[in-house]
Amino acid sequence: MMWITRSIRRSLMLPHSHAASYSTALTSVAAVEAERSIREGPRNDWSRPEIKSIYDSPVLDLLFHAAQVHRHAHNFREVQQCTLLSIKTGGCSEDCSYCPQSSRYNTGLKAQKLMNSDAVLEAAKKAKEAGSTRFCMGAAWRDTIGRKTNFNQILEYVKEIRGMGMEVCCTLGMLEKQQALELKKAGLTAYNHNLDTSREYYPNIITTRTYDERLQTLEHVREAGINVCSGGIIGLGEAEEDRVGLLHTLATLPTHPESVPINALLAVKGTPLEDQKLRYGR
Ligand code: SF4
Repeated sequence: MMWITRSIRRSLMLPHSHAASYSTALTSVAAVEAERSIREGPRNDWSRPEIKSIYDSPVLDLLFHAAQVHRHAHNFREVQQCTLLSIKTGGCSEDCSYCPQSSRYNTGLKAQKLMNSDAVLEAAKKAKEAGSTRFCMGAAWRDTIGRKTNFNQILEYVKEIRGMGMEVCCTLGMLEKQQALELKKAGLTAYNHNLDTSREYYPNIITTRTYDERLQTLEHVREAGINVCSGGIIGLGEAEEDRVGLLHTLATLPTHPESVPINALLAVKGTPLEDQKLRYGR
């Protein structure tokens, strides 16, 4: 998505004569990379300039070639519908400057305890009836260390919902190796842990945990055999280079994440980013 928004702007800025001359070009970076991807499969040795050149592609060229790669790997008639439920909202000790769930900011959000089994399973049942095949549970925690009772409860939720025939995803903050293994044993399909932005811009957004700690959690998830869901947020005041940097980190992981959620900042009053406007770069 971030490539697309960037490319729309670039396309709109082109005078007609330039657009016409581009259309007569023999090929494009996106075309070359799409063809290679279909021929050779995913690669993990991307350089930043290579990613930047794809990022700068005209939007329709990018869509066309991305669709080719997508069709090569997936049934183009299918999308997966997932339902996300916040099972423990607010009261988080972290300082992510975009997040109204941090206890450090006065956003008017009342912290809640972990939802009980009946409420969670009822929500999962409704999600299934509404057509979702995956149920995601999110908890506003730094990590689950020292939360044995709650963690065990969540393991039960995972087992129960898997038993309903759905895929299950969790996002519970940082994970230790052992916890990842326990989630895998309970049947967890995927774990979400976003990198948010580039390594360089990250300290402007979060100071209470490091980029490397985030990568460590992704490693534990991957090693446990759980699918990785990891992406970021655009509109945090980052430069285009930071968006490229985030993509570069994700694209050079030993195994690519199965899901890459790209969110747009929803500026919430009371957070440090309350006045941040969505811009195409800094
Ligand atoms: S760790 Fe998650 S819940 Fe906590 S402040 Fe950061 S984004 Fe919000």
